[in-house]
Amino acid sequence: MRAFFITQTLILSVVLSLSAPAQDVDEQLLLEHFHSISSEEIAGWMTELCSPEYNGRLAGTPEYIASAEWVADKLNDWGIKPAGDSGSYYQWFDQPYTVVNDAGSLQLHITQKDGTAILKSYIAPADYYPGMNSGSGEITAEVVFVGYGVTAPELNYDDYKGIDVKGKIVLMNRDVPYKDALNPQYAKWVRYCYHQYKVENAAQHGAAGMLYIDGNSANPNISYIENMIVCGIGPEPLADIFAGLGKTNTAITGQIDKSFKPASFATGKIMTIKANTTRHPEGRACNIAGIIEGSDPVLKDEVIIIGAHLDAVGNAGGILVPGGFDNASGVVDIMAAAKALAGSGIKLKRTLLFLLLGGEETGLVGSKCYTANPIFPKEKTVTYINLDMVGNGTGLAVSASASCAALIEYFKTANSKYIHRPMRSSTSSVIYYGRPRSDGLVFLAEGFRTMDISTTDGVKPVWYHLPGDDATAVTPEIMEDVSKLIYLTFVVMANAGPFGF
Ligand SMILES: [Zn+2]
Repeated sequence: MRAFFITQTLILSVVLSLSAPAQDVDEQLLLEHFHSISSEEIAGWMTELCSPEYNGRLAGTPEYIASAEWVADKLNDWGIKPAGDSGSYYQWFDQPYTVVNDAGSLQLHITQKDGTAILKSYIAPADYYPGMNSGSGEITAEVVFVGYGVTAPELNYDDYKGIDVKGKIVLMNRDVPYKDALNPQYAKWVRYCYHQYKVENAAQHGAAGMLYIDGNSANPNISYIENMIVCGIGPEPLADIFAGLGKTNTAITGQIDKSFKPASFATGKIMTIKANTTRHPEGRACNIAGIIEGSDPVLKDEVIIIGAHLDAVGNAGGILVPGGFDNASGVVDIMAAAKALAGSGIKLKRTLLFLLLGGEETGLVGSKCYTANPIFPKEKTVTYINLDMVGNGTGLAVSASASCAALIEYFKTANSKYIHRPMRSSTSSVIYYGRPRSDGLVFLAEGFRTMDISTTDGVKPVWYHLPGDDATAVTPEIMEDVSKLIYLTFVVMANAGPFGF
């Protein structure tokens, strides 16, 4: 009885403690809630967020808002306090959006020897993908190849120079000819990388349609221009456009990349694109913000933020992309850790902010909204930890900006003590001049210390922005361990002494 009593009350100065002394935490309590994190519950939440009810969670849509409410209700159930606008869980922002009513069509006009034309119809999403932000309507016109669709006079580069695209369909590649995003030179090209720029530039040159060579997956072309019909194409229509011309896109763009000389030309091929969309300029979306308030009178002003984007790419007229791995996975990893942390009642000196972002897929709108209107001052933010596509594989990886490299040790220690997964870690001090492609990079660009948690050695196929990205595209066992890692690390980080930065 006495021995039992001693075990029960055994207080361990958390074994995870590093150089800085951690608050004493009852290890039994710590482990009890650690073991409460379950892959079954995580898998159930994945199924919920991937359900047709939320229609692919496109930011701005009522279905996205319904998914945000579902997450906020959970936080509320667990006693996590709202930290959004006017005492709510939500941080709102404008989010115009486009509904794709049906998959439309894409056809090639093949001229026969007798001069008549037959139509070759392509299949969505195997051959083409409806432009997620396309104008509504139909265009039949000649296809004109315009390289990267860039007009950059200051760089002495213009894909539209000497070429007439009025009323035509322009065909272009994503990105820009300059590829070295670690070179400061790249900074001059960045503004020309954006889909939005490319659509606008095509419209400015009088094009009526746009075919985008983008790997053929749902691509929320951020920009919407009325009457500009946009469609993403895969290998087959691309090959048909180049057929008989004695060239390939790969060869031509390779040449452009080498010479920085545009190689635009009219293909002579006629195509018809049909798009059926409805624009909603009035759309609004939100981030979801919940906190566990720190208990220390001074340290509670410091906050550790963990975030993941809740939104996904939606439904292209019946082609539903549920957004499982990308990024319901990151959201539910955080939810499981949040539930365990709140349920444990373990006192945390610093404040934790759980931030589920909206509008990542529509231009990183949610992270831009947060960094422009931070709930806690940047100076008081220990780090922003981003989770994007975290739940496929058998290993873990943690990375940090050079400004908070020391924090990696907290994750390593928790893993080696309690989780025992292979873990990689890295610190990045390189400056990336390319366009930010993740919420974490938005925080970094705004001067926050940032970290990423990811999973490695994927065992499931990755259906990036494709219908296969559903609740089965993840491995819930590694997600359980990601949540446990966050849970353990946060207890120690929240209670650690000064970090020295
Ligand atoms: Zn994502």
